[in-house]
Amino acid sequence: MSTATAVAEPAAPSAAPPENPMSFVEEINHLLYASKGNPINTCIQCGTCSATCPVASGGFMDNSPRRIIALIRAGFKEQVLKANTFWYCASCYQCTVRCPRNIDIAELMYGLKRYTVWKTEHQEGLIGPVFSETFVKMILRTGRSYEPVLAPTYMFTYGLPEMIQEATMGTALMLKGRLPLLPARIKRLDNFKRMIKHIIPLGDKE
Ligand code: SF4
Ligand code: SF4
Repeated sequence: MSTATAVAEPAAPSAAPPENPMSFVEEINHLLYASKGNPINTCIQCGTCSATCPVASGGFMDNSPRRIIALIRAGFKEQVLKANTFWYCASCYQCTVRCPRNIDIAELMYGLKRYTVWKTEHQEGLIGPVFSETFVKMILRTGRSYEPVLAPTYMFTYGLPEMIQEATMGTALMLKGRLPLLPARIKRLDNFKRMIKHIIPLGDKE
């Protein structure tokens, strides 16, 4: 007499990938894991970062660093991604060294830049996102920075005299051999690309 029992069929794999179960604040905290700073939910909203920030004090940021952290924690994702705060950040690290809760706010600014370029949800009309995307694409193609490719991303935002000045300087540098006519390529570019892809979520940016 057979003692075999029916074996349950394994569940069919779902066609759609699982929904991202993380909240916005969790996503941003993950961006900070690589840095030495504490997660932003330890922020006490003391305002030291905003008071010490030369760019916020100068009135150039539409949301101060303190307010950006409050907005992230409250889940105002769209308002955070459309802010100019992290694109105007000068990476001076004053906020980071003075934060009483050891939150690496400067690193948070970098994380938000990467996140918004990755999601393509940044504010329109800013030089920063266009410059960053051009830079990453160029680095992926050649492994090196090449100024003549980067310059047009910001040159046209200034007046004609500045454009002529930049073009004149670029030409003089080329004639003196200080700026190559064509971008150089590094050796073992494929290895370099693989390394970059582990660091930056590129999506379709190639
Ligand atoms: S200095 Fe630190 S604790 Fe104070 S508001 Fe800024 S991030 Fe929060
Ligand atoms: S690192 Fe950026 S956010 Fe922090 S103080 Fe400097 S400019 Fe402001």
